[in-house]
Amino acid sequence: MKNNAPIYSSRTYQLADWHLHLYKNGSKRYAKVSYPIRCGVYSELETDDYIFHFNLNHEIIRAFGKTERWPHPQEWLKRTIGNDWIYYSTGGYTGVFETTGEYYLPNLPYPANKSIGGNPFLKKDVTALIQKWHQKLQILRAAQKYAPPEVLDFFSAANDNNPAKMASKAEELFDICSGRISVLPPDTRHVDYNVIPLTISQGCMYKCRFCRVKNDHPFTLKSPEEISGQILRLKALFGEDLVNYNSVFLGEHDALQADPDLICFSIEEAHRQLNLSDSYFDGSNTFLFGSVDSLLNAPDWLFRQLEELPGAKYINIGIESADQETLDALGKPLSSKESRDAFDRLQLINDTFATVEITANFVIDESLNKNHYLSLLSLIRDRFERPKTKGCIYLSPLQFENPSREKLFDFYKLKVDSRLPLFLYLIQRL
Ligand code: SF4
Repeated sequence: MKNNAPIYSSRTYQLADWHLHLYKNGSKRYAKVSYPIRCGVYSELETDDYIFHFNLNHEIIRAFGKTERWPHPQEWLKRTIGNDWIYYSTGGYTGVFETTGEYYLPNLPYPANKSIGGNPFLKKDVTALIQKWHQKLQILRAAQKYAPPEVLDFFSAANDNNPAKMASKAEELFDICSGRISVLPPDTRHVDYNVIPLTISQGCMYKCRFCRVKNDHPFTLKSPEEISGQILRLKALFGEDLVNYNSVFLGEHDALQADPDLICFSIEEAHRQLNLSDSYFDGSNTFLFGSVDSLLNAPDWLFRQLEELPGAKYINIGIESADQETLDALGKPLSSKESRDAFDRLQLINDTFATVEITANFVIDESLNKNHYLSLLSLIRDRFERPKTKGCIYLSPLQFENPSREKLFDFYKLKVDSRLPLFLYLIQRL
């Protein structure tokens, strides 16, 4: 297996009532396990009350409390590169893995289509940590007069990366990508949503009426020069911490609609310039969205070529329904035959290529008619003689907010009958 990634030698400092572990070597894989697993190379600062994690740019990436006031000893806050604080909860360990495919549930600080989970942002200790982590760091730093130079350097750099600087760095990311990424493919859960966004096209073809993440942008392509320019800026922005990324997301809403040569060029360039194959992590990944039309129109040679390119490629297709009345109600300009044809083609591709996995989204909601569920069952149950492990189906609740397990009745019924892996799609932005 590859790995020319730089080696970070880990060291620890114990001073007074805190402990600093520089360059901890975490897991090289995003394993799905029922205990918190810390991935990548990071530094850990531990006090009596809190634990803070920093990336290789000394920017805060995680924080959690150690006292009894913290909601749960195995729950934590994560700060994304889009500068959102996300709270990872166990969900009481009941049903989280079955519904999402992951052991920990990301609770988002903005409206999303979640059907399970509470609102940890109403908890005082959680909000206090988001608001006051930097103040706590400043107090610690002020107390260090005789610490070793490396420790002082760490405190100085971590303090410089204050909340205002982190917010402006996120704005720079959005500027590079031509705007904030309003939604990530569900498959990015396999790398805990830690992807480098590279916009190769903008907008989408359909502008479906039901969709809450679309924009007004007509579908347009970026040129190879624009893509190369973005990659250079991304490389500079991620800096030292680039080694902690092995995955790229080719934006925006329908990158599969792009010229096949442009798709392949983008994957190759991203791997070459961002060293994705030589990151700290094992393997590399490319994630993108596609549509029914872009999947049906993509030439066979594109998938043969994708198979030859480095890493795993996950393409997520928004099919939404195979029932005409439902498609019409959703304002999705497709026929049910096109939906079924796209589903059949993605099965064929999944059966043919080892490094390409195509997954599909369908909607669920109490308001949808019975034929939507029957037509879905005819695809995910009746088309197969035995269960398959590849080609995950994601069900996306139409309603935002108001999570309730009762609303998941249809989900669990479909999950029992499905011969494909089936999970909920939690819409997450970057
Ligand atoms: S569901 Fe997909 S294709 Fe439809 S409007 Fe939203 S982003 Fe565009």
